[in-house]
Amino acid sequence: MEYPSKLIENAVNEIAKLPGIGKKTALRLALHLIKEKESTTYALAQALNDLRSKIKYCSKCYNISDEEVCNICSSSRRDQSLICVVEDSKDVLAIENTAQYNGLYHVLGGIISPIEGIGPSELNIEQLISRVKSSEDLKEVILALSPTMEGDTTAFYLTKKLSEFDIKITSIARGIPIGGELEYTDEITLGRSILSRIDYHKE
Ligand code: ZN
Repeated sequence: MEYPSKLIENAVNEIAKLPGIGKKTALRLALHLIKEKESTTYALAQALNDLRSKIKYCSKCYNISDEEVCNICSSSRRDQSLICVVEDSKDVLAIENTAQYNGLYHVLGGIISPIEGIGPSELNIEQLISRVKSSEDLKEVILALSPTMEGDTTAFYLTKKLSEFDIKITSIARGIPIGGELEYTDEITLGRSILSRIDYHKE
């Protein structure tokens, strides 16, 4: 595509790096941002800057948080005997939206994927182990990982690591279609699969 300006071309190239946005849409957005009030465009730029420079992760569960410890970890109303292990912050949102779970979370920050070169040490797994080790009230760790090969590999690895502790390890019931992703599962199905979780067995 020929652009009338290098500035537009740069903006289009950057915007098109976002998931699900092609060059055409990127161009439309760039042209829109030129026509908008200056303050609107600068507010967007500022929000994006802040998003990267100021974002914090909870020091306990690694969920996105504005504080050192997130709202969930610091709430006295949450059940301290349960930790639900998820891949990403968006999974926490999905599970919270079901309103069926009242325990704590642990966000791994990804999933074990040999193909993409992501090993256990890239994830918040050691942090989970030391959390389990130091928690007195913990009774159960729930694995809520996507039913994909990577999800299964991660679940298997975690189960092995956690087997030395006197806790129950469960997995959310597979109402989720095989190969499906947790975040796309509808709330009712996801809520039900958290309630009817099953003991995790190594196959
Ligand atoms: Zn937290």
